[in-house]
Amino acid sequence: LLDADGSARPTIFAEMSALATRTGALNLGQGFPDVDGPATVARAAADAILHGHNQYPPGPGTAPLRAAIAAHQRTRYGIELDVDTQVLVTTGATEALAAAVLALTGSGDEVLMLEPSYDSYAAVVAMAGATRTTAPLRPTADGFRLDVAALERAVTPRTRLLLLNSPHNPTGAVLDRDELAAVARVAVAHDLLVVTDEVYEHLVFDVEHVPIATLPGMAERTLTISSSGKTFSFTGWKIGWVSGPAELVGAVRTVKQFLTYTSGAPFQPAVAHALTDPAALAWVDGLVRSLARRRDLLCAGLRDAGFDVVRPDGTYFVLADAAPLGAVDGAAFCRDLPGRAGVVAVPVSAFTRAGSPTHDALRTWVRFTFVKRQDVLEEAVDRLRAAF
Ligand code: PMP
Ligand code: GLN
Repeated sequence: LLDADGSARPTIFAEMSALATRTGALNLGQGFPDVDGPATVARAAADAILHGHNQYPPGPGTAPLRAAIAAHQRTRYGIELDVDTQVLVTTGATEALAAAVLALTGSGDEVLMLEPSYDSYAAVVAMAGATRTTAPLRPTADGFRLDVAALERAVTPRTRLLLLNSPHNPTGAVLDRDELAAVARVAVAHDLLVVTDEVYEHLVFDVEHVPIATLPGMAERTLTISSSGKTFSFTGWKIGWVSGPAELVGAVRTVKQFLTYTSGAPFQPAVAHALTDPAALAWVDGLVRSLARRRDLLCAGLRDAGFDVVRPDGTYFVLADAAPLGAVDGAAFCRDLPGRAGVVAVPVSAFTRAGSPTHDALRTWVRFTFVKRQDVLEEAVDRLRAAF
């Protein structure tokens, strides 16, 4: 986690956003929207501040927010949760992931995750003293797909936890029912716990998001994580949640108690409102329609510029191979890109393990986000076409 001299390294997202600010390049690196979520939801947070929601809320989250999360899981997926014992509010999905991995794993345990994976996973596995093992997602004509046989082979007697993510950052893959059923078979056969990061659950285009907790044999072994940041375009509010069996949620609550104790008082009523307000949910549907158009715009533009592009089924990221443009290393390509084209992207190597086969296979790949205004994406695409 630290450089050899003990100094903290910024995450790749912070580094690339700083590069964008310094160079004035268009930032298609860090995944955050350049338009805020619904004004009614923002107003609910402002009202909460003005009406006394400013002291520590209950550690597990306010009762109305826990009820709203349980109602969301029931109406959307048919998942029944006890609001007092099976739902925990966290400081973003980031805290939920950290607290879950710290609660459930330790020295000697292996955590099996997809590769590439969101960068915080490797960090929290290291913090827990556990070891990371991986199963690859590979580019195919049908998007990035999970190598199920490799997943099976990666399980050892030390494997304790499967750390899943679908819809998947950075590939935009949405695991289909066959892939999920295969993962579930592996989890049941080896009696593994599953932590599933579903922060992009609403951001899917023409495919269905299936929570793995709904598959047979999975509810009793699965913690499901989500967050208001992606769904409602308020990434700075940091209200996330985790749900699942009472015993597992209780273990995560114990860790959360000593990480943050409690999470953003005024944002909790606002997110409870967002999750239950038909107008706010209709706003999300509109966001998804608009993201699908922006995905198509960016994919077409990247192809025109000469990249090989794998069209994502979900999230707000697209992976592109810069090898046809002469790149030999995605990180070097991304460092040069602001000067060359006035655009910032993130190398996929930030999501892989140095030296792994997946790291080598995706060495020249880079990630762009399309959760930016259409005019920004059009300008970025023009610049890339002109530069290459
Ligand atoms: N998981 C994934 C896959 C993400 O992309 C993100 C967003 N950066 C997070 C977790 C963190 O979410 P939050 O901002 O709610 O902590
Ligand atoms: N999740 C966002 C991304 O993948 C931002 C994460 C961050 O800045 N830590 O770009």
